[in-house]
Amino acid sequence: MNEDKVERRSFVKTLVGLVATAGAIPLLSTFDKIYASANDTENELIGGKRYGMGINIKSCIGCGRCVDACKRENNVPRDPYHFRTWVERYAILMSGETKVDSPNGGMEGFPAETSEGEILRSFFAPKLCNHCSNAPCVQVCPVGATYTTPDGVVLVDKDYCIGCRYCIQACPYGARFFDPATRTASKCTFCYHRLSKGLLPACVEVCPTQARIFGDTLARASQLTRFFRFNEIQVLKPDLNTRPQVFYAGLDGVVR
Ligand code: SF4
Ligand code: SF4
Repeated sequence: MNEDKVERRSFVKTLVGLVATAGAIPLLSTFDKIYASANDTENELIGGKRYGMGINIKSCIGCGRCVDACKRENNVPRDPYHFRTWVERYAILMSGETKVDSPNGGMEGFPAETSEGEILRSFFAPKLCNHCSNAPCVQVCPVGATYTTPDGVVLVDKDYCIGCRYCIQACPYGARFFDPATRTASKCTFCYHRLSKGLLPACVEVCPTQARIFGDTLARASQLTRFFRFNEIQVLKPDLNTRPQVFYAGLDGVVR
């Protein structure tokens, strides 16, 4: 059993009152600032593209179809410990506490909240590898098995990975896991095998509410650039300067 995963996924962790509610944590910045930061290495991109994903929190209904599709598409173990993408539910209580849960990564949806009367508001936050432009996982890999493609996708070359797990420790988003089948590090690839065929990532394709939007962040006009233009865009843990390429709209300050 992967203890890291158990710890990370055994949610229903209560972030007692110390977790401030709406907007009290300055984890957000404007899209312009994020975009400038994310793209100041644009000239290094040979492919002239930088793939990224937008996630609209207000559209996510927590159905978990994305989690299931990801597992099927990428042969992720169908146990509750290994996920390339997962969905978290945040419930902000009247007391100021924030409850977070993600039963089985949200793959079968979420049971009704027992403390419904006490809930001020709740929402779902899909998560995955952020394909950081300044990725700690790439920096710590001692054999260069984790690398960034010319179009900005962070991948693991299983043939080179020695299973040391340094990258799993280095990722501040808990986005990586040790695959027991291959005995190598694993994580979201933005379904790179599908991109090369002109297809969307599986999670994006199955989302019934278009909560996930995928595309080239450098494109002049696309669904993703429209998403950037018409929403206040945020990234997770911007203070770490990892330059995530997964961008959120409607993200609450309690989400880390
Ligand atoms: Fe949310 Fe879409 Fe995933 Fe359903 S499929 S949980 S709506 S992101
Ligand atoms: Fe690496 Fe984690 Fe960033 Fe993904 S989210 S690129 S695994 S540091």
